[in-house]
Amino acid sequence: MAAGLCFLLVAKYEIISLKNDVTSSHTTAITSNKIIPLQLHSQVSSITLSASIFPQSKLPKMAKSPDTVHPIKAYGYGATDTSGTFSPLTFSRRVTGDKDVRFKVLYCGICHSDLHFAKNEWGVTTYPVVPGHEIVGIVTEVGSKVVKFKVGDTVGVGCLVGSCRSCQSCSNNLEQYCPKMILTYGFPYFDGTITYGGYSDHMVSDEHFVLRWPQNLPLDSGAPLLCAGITTYSPLRHYGLDKPGTKLGVVGLGGLGHVAVKMAKAFGAEVTVFSTSPAKKQEALEGLKADHFIVSKDLEQMQAATGTLDGIIDTVSASHAITVFINVLKTDGKLVLVGVPEKPHELPAFPLIMGRKIVGGSNIGGLKETQEMLDFSAKHGITADVEVIPIDYVNTAMDRLLKSDVRYRFVIDVANSIKAPLDDIKSKV
Ligand code: NAP
Ligand code: ZN
Ligand code: ZN
Repeated sequence: MAAGLCFLLVAKYEIISLKNDVTSSHTTAITSNKIIPLQLHSQVSSITLSASIFPQSKLPKMAKSPDTVHPIKAYGYGATDTSGTFSPLTFSRRVTGDKDVRFKVLYCGICHSDLHFAKNEWGVTTYPVVPGHEIVGIVTEVGSKVVKFKVGDTVGVGCLVGSCRSCQSCSNNLEQYCPKMILTYGFPYFDGTITYGGYSDHMVSDEHFVLRWPQNLPLDSGAPLLCAGITTYSPLRHYGLDKPGTKLGVVGLGGLGHVAVKMAKAFGAEVTVFSTSPAKKQEALEGLKADHFIVSKDLEQMQAATGTLDGIIDTVSASHAITVFINVLKTDGKLVLVGVPEKPHELPAFPLIMGRKIVGGSNIGGLKETQEMLDFSAKHGITADVEVIPIDYVNTAMDRLLKSDVRYRFVIDVANSIKAPLDDIKSKV
């Protein structure tokens, strides 16, 4: 969700009250192959959301600690408080159910939502949180009623691991707008336990939320498509910005932004990048094949672009003024917000009225569209530009992400850097 995108929670649901609730629990930390019991608490920022919109939103008080609530041990990296610092954790996952696919995680991208979430910037985080919703892995077990996958298949899981499957949104393949959607991490699952994401050795998910991995799509640079890819592909399609010749703006050249440029170019758009980082100009024009590059803080450049664009995808993760981008839209132009800054935007009426302009939003994508996007990316050779890192680099990676110092997505080499501690392996022998 958000799913990572629990930002969605903040945006989608009316927050009636916010209170702090400390639930006692306990987990363990792994250091140099030793498991050290760690008296963690799960500091639950419990949010009471409108029960009529989201009845299962109240976070459960876990009777058991994360490492004993399920029978199968899991290992990962997570944050235990708002410092957003990651450390090794043990937790647990459920046994493979009839419709479940269990898989070993190979790669997991780092989305800015993971950082927002780890620091509780959206006020909905349950600690410990194990983020990660750009997950590629290899199937190790399937339930008796699984029809789409078999052991050995390469698969992906994005931001969603559950939804009601019967509401209007679910019936229209828009699981991301289901009032009961369940995000891949930090969210109560149907059984009341909290979901944990892909910064971990393995995962288990209902097959409906598992994607087929196209044969010629690389695993590491393809992983970010599971969030960054679908979050930019879906609004381009939905808002009719996928027509050849569309004059499209992309604001913020980060993980989402650079994939947005690639998707838009594949649809045949003329793309203008708006960036606060002049140093990205050459890469944008030469590497990503954008058509124009504007430094968004340069008023003269912004002025010159007034009234030129059909649509804009705004991917910026921090607070920023949006009026300047409304001004560069043509009449009937559309500004689509996908970035989720901590603070709300200011939305002035005049620039919208004078030009019948539209401001919209978009949240990841449904499972059908995500599969379509993966197949589209494989066909058009679209992947993310990635820096593959071992898990013990994650804290440095988060610092660099915050400074926009990554070209353009960190991807964790999970299979080679998150392993069961030696002591634990020995105890099973
Ligand atoms: P990212 O890699 O950090 O990219 C964000 C970009 O925003 C930066 O590279 C930078 O680009 C620009 N930026 C950063 N700080 C800025 C500031 N103070 N003023 C103006 N521009 C600034 O993050 P990401 O992973 O692409 O995620 C972007 C946002 O989308 C996050 O808020 C994330 O939570 C959200 N998100 C939403 C969805 C959804 O479904 N709607 C899905 C995934 C993520 P320049 O250097 O070019 O200016
Ligand atoms: Zn994401
Ligand atoms: Zn539903």
